[in-house]
Amino acid sequence: MTVMQSLTRHLINPERFRHLASVAGPTTPDSTKRFPVFNPSTGELLAELPDMGAEDVTKAIDKAHAAQGHWAGLTARERSDVLWKWHQLILENSDDLAAILTAEMGKPLAEAKSEIAHAAAYLQWYAEEANRIYGETISAPSNDRRLLVIKQPVGVVGAITPWNFPASMVARKISPALAAGCTVILKPAEQTPLIAGAMFVLAQTAGFPEGVLNLIYASEGDAVGRELCSNPKVRKISFTGSTEVGRLLMRQCSDQIKRISFELGGNAPFIVFDDADIDAAVDGAIQAKFRNAGQTCVSANRLYVQSKVYDEFTQKFTERVRGLQVGDGFDPDVAIGPLIDTYALAKIEAHVDDAVRKGAKIECGGVRVGGSGTFFVPTVIKDVVSTMRLAQEETFGPLAPIIRFEDAEQVVREANDTIYGLAAYFYASNLKRVWRVAEALEYGMVGINTGRMSSEAAPFGGIKQSGIGREGSHHGLEDYLEMKYLCMGGL
Ligand code: NAD
Repeated sequence: MTVMQSLTRHLINPERFRHLASVAGPTTPDSTKRFPVFNPSTGELLAELPDMGAEDVTKAIDKAHAAQGHWAGLTARERSDVLWKWHQLILENSDDLAAILTAEMGKPLAEAKSEIAHAAAYLQWYAEEANRIYGETISAPSNDRRLLVIKQPVGVVGAITPWNFPASMVARKISPALAAGCTVILKPAEQTPLIAGAMFVLAQTAGFPEGVLNLIYASEGDAVGRELCSNPKVRKISFTGSTEVGRLLMRQCSDQIKRISFELGGNAPFIVFDDADIDAAVDGAIQAKFRNAGQTCVSANRLYVQSKVYDEFTQKFTERVRGLQVGDGFDPDVAIGPLIDTYALAKIEAHVDDAVRKGAKIECGGVRVGGSGTFFVPTVIKDVVSTMRLAQEETFGPLAPIIRFEDAEQVVREANDTIYGLAAYFYASNLKRVWRVAEALEYGMVGINTGRMSSEAAPFGGIKQSGIGREGSHHGLEDYLEMKYLCMGGL
């Protein structure tokens, strides 16, 4: 039996996760405190992990700092080989990893498997990208000089990840850092630390040198974040999570002008024009809205539908949404798992209540369901207007608000009227319209006639208050490299 099989054999038995406690920290964590991890579908206790504090973080930073020179001094091929091995181990253990993911986060097992494959794809991509770090030579104004640019790793990186994609966010964030030659301290979200722990078990087997990868388990982010931001040995903070916490971290990094990469919240518009293929638009909206029970930063938060096709789209979309089964992610018929916790349930209910009070109509759903799990029935609300809370804030749940619009100029103006700028989607067929709208949308990513666009080969990220920097593709690697200009004279 492999380590992973033994971990997942009895998913709800905390004893089985005891191994994962030992991969955290530079050595055995000092803290004797523990925090619980629950299954959101059943409410059952999965594990209790060490609750690490600022002192543990300082030790992990020292360890990463000590390992930095060695890791950066390896050849690109040597770093690539370890990343490649880690990627292979993740693929070999993907069924077990997916089971851990579904147990602690709740998403349907098929989605968990696809997330593990996506996480492995990032490791593969950056194992390859590690070998493609190039410099430049520049023509000098005089012949007695040569001008060059070299790229070097930023140094020790503090990485903080969210619970909604707890495996792929870890891989997407730390694989470019490792490929660039940086060492890493990772703090995964408190709701989903087990999958990070399991990935670290495999990283140890892959053979990362001591101190290169360090894991911090903690029941909240505040103390860990403050130490990562204020310790001068940490050269960069890479954060994925809410815009609110991003603002706080940015302030904390300002004293040392510390490098930052932020992937923050979104409020994605999904626009259906009257020349769109309506059936394809319905398919795309189902994916863009309901994947991961709507708990994605690129989730379609506002569905704008042009008047002429409003009734047809609403009727076909609602019919499909009624067919989405809610329940435990281990049930193969389930398409919508639980929300992460009771706060998430309260937020979605508040958004529904506010919209209904202001005149919107519930087409389906709108209520909680189930006993001990945090389930909400997939919901469609029509006749929404932009002043309602659900149109202005990120709901982060299975709630689809439909807004009617008349013309392209109006909808682009409304779509851009938000502090966020992560992802937008639209369906149309007229080529001129497609190009004009794609250019006019103020977003880092635009899906045209598709409801899904995340790929390790493409730059993922937002503008405005949705973030700074990009993850994925060769652009993601640049965020972990410093540029150094060399001027050689006297030639
Ligand atoms: P969150 O900001 O509450 O937490 C994210 C991480 O930050 C967790 O690990 C948490 O422990 C930590 N944290 C919380 N307070 C902290 C503090 N004071 N200092 C340091 N760290 C702290 O977000 P969440 O609820 O876990 O995730 C949902 C949010 O993440 C949504 O807004 C979503 O849009 C966003 N998100 C963005 C992307 C993207 O690529 N842009 C991807 C996934 C999620």
